[in-house]
Amino acid sequence: MIRGIAPDAYVEPHVADVRTCVPARAIAACDVVFSCTDSHASRALLTRLPYQYGPALIDIGTLVRADGTAFVDVRTVTPATPCLDCQHVLDADRVALETQSPDQRALARRFGYAPGADAPVPAILPLNALAVSLGMLRLFDLLRPWLSWRDRVTLEVSRLEVMERAAPRRPNCGICAGSLIGAGDAVRLPCDDGLPS
Ligand SMILES: [Zn+2]
Repeated sequence: MIRGIAPDAYVEPHVADVRTCVPARAIAACDVVFSCTDSHASRALLTRLPYQYGPALIDIGTLVRADGTAFVDVRTVTPATPCLDCQHVLDADRVALETQSPDQRALARRFGYAPGADAPVPAILPLNALAVSLGMLRLFDLLRPWLSWRDRVTLEVSRLEVMERAAPRRPNCGICAGSLIGAGDAVRLPCDDGLPS
């Protein structure tokens, strides 16, 4: 699609889980990263990159609830802002579950330790398009600042209500307040070339 718009654009496709090492290292070398993944484990890896390697991370997500509310969430992570864990985006239990082997996940489901982990999630195209548009505005803002948004901005779409949910960097955070900052290849990325499917 990108080459359809700009035939001379450089495109390096990786059809792989972002948690595997080849795409993770390729992404680490970028200037700006758009995170549009559906898992907490993938975001747990991506949120390290701004501190370890320096790219800006724009993480976008949508959520539709059974009560009729719908949310678009845009989070910005740079070396100067709190990580996705400090911004309360990551769920440690989900990260642990998503990094288990298929057998371990099946066992967890069997004993009721993974409620909702494999539940179908609705996708609404206009909601996703709104999330992408807000993410692109944030990209323009990184290139030439003009927005007054906080690091995390959530739009509740049914009431068209904006919630700015900025959170401080935790002083003891192992991602954004520790030894990862500027570490580059001196610290191994928690990627895996043998991920279970
Ligand atoms: Zn943090």
